[in-house]
Amino acid sequence: MKTDILEKLSGRVLLLDSAMGSSLLAEKFGSGLEAGELWNVEDGKKEKVRQIHQANVRAGSDVVITNTFGANRFKLGHYGLAGRVRELNSAGARLCREAAEGKALVAGDIGPTGEILEGSGGDRTPDEVRAGYDEQVAGLLEGGVDLFILETFMDVEELKLALEAVRAASELRVIASMTFQSGAGRLATMWGLTPEQAARELTEAGTDIVGANCGMGSEEMVQVVGRMAGSTGLPICAQPNAGLPEMVEGKTVYRETPEQMAEKAVALAAAGARLIGGCCGSTPEYIAAAKVKLGL
Ligand SMILES: [Zn+2]
Repeated sequence: MKTDILEKLSGRVLLLDSAMGSSLLAEKFGSGLEAGELWNVEDGKKEKVRQIHQANVRAGSDVVITNTFGANRFKLGHYGLAGRVRELNSAGARLCREAAEGKALVAGDIGPTGEILEGSGGDRTPDEVRAGYDEQVAGLLEGGVDLFILETFMDVEELKLALEAVRAASELRVIASMTFQSGAGRLATMWGLTPEQAARELTEAGTDIVGANCGMGSEEMVQVVGRMAGSTGLPICAQPNAGLPEMVEGKTVYRETPEQMAEKAVALAAAGARLIGGCCGSTPEYIAAAKVKLGL
C-alpha cells in the first residue's frame, strides 16, 4: 500500500524540500531565457536537477517536489514548448522519483498559468485553463507521483481549476498553497484574499492540506500560518522564501541564512504548520538545519 501523507503527518511535522528554481539559477544554467522544465530531459542538465533533489533528500526532506512548476501549455508556450507538456511533466516526475529512491514522497508540482481568468479581469476561460491543467496532471501521473502540490497561486479561482483537474484524474492527496504579500498593513494575496479567507475557500474546495509559500520571509509566514490555523481543521504547509529578494549587482539575493530560517521553522511549527519547506532562495542546508532545530 502506498504511504499516505496524512498518516505520516499524524506522527510528526514533515519536511518538504528547498527551492528548485533559484537553485537552478545558482547553478548558472538559468538565464531565465529558457524553460527550467526543459532541464528534465536535457543531457548535462537533468543531472543537475537530479542532484538538487538528492541533496534535499540527504538533508532530510520527507517530500520532494518535481521540477514542473511552470510546465503548463501557457507558460511553456512562451518558449515554443506548448506541445511538450506531457513529456516534460512525465520526465520531471520520473527524475524526481529516481532521485528520491523511495526515501521521500514525490509531490507533482503545479503552478499558475501566468494567464488571467475572465472572471478576474483577463481573457482566459475557465475551460481553457482547466484543459491546460488536465494535460499537466496526466503527464505527472504518467511519470509517477505520490501526491500533488499546487503552489504560488494568487488567484484562488485558478487554483480551484488545478484542484479540479487533479481530482478528476486521481485520488492522490493535494496540497493547495497560495502566495500572500504584506503591504498597507495587511496580509493578502495579490487578488485581496486574506489567509483566513484562503484557508476557508481551499478547505471548502476539497483540498487535503492548505498552505502558503513564496512572497515573504519566515517572519511574516509565521503570521500567515497562525491565521490560517484558526480558519481550517486541515493540516497546514508553509514554505517561506529566504527573506525578500534584493537586487545586488544585477543578481537576485536572499539574505536569510539557513540558520535564521531554521529558527523560524520552530515558530512555524508552533503556529500550526505540519509541513515545512523553503521557497525562493532556500537551500538544502536550510532543510538540514530545520531538521535539527525541530528535533526530527
Ligand atoms: Zn518562491
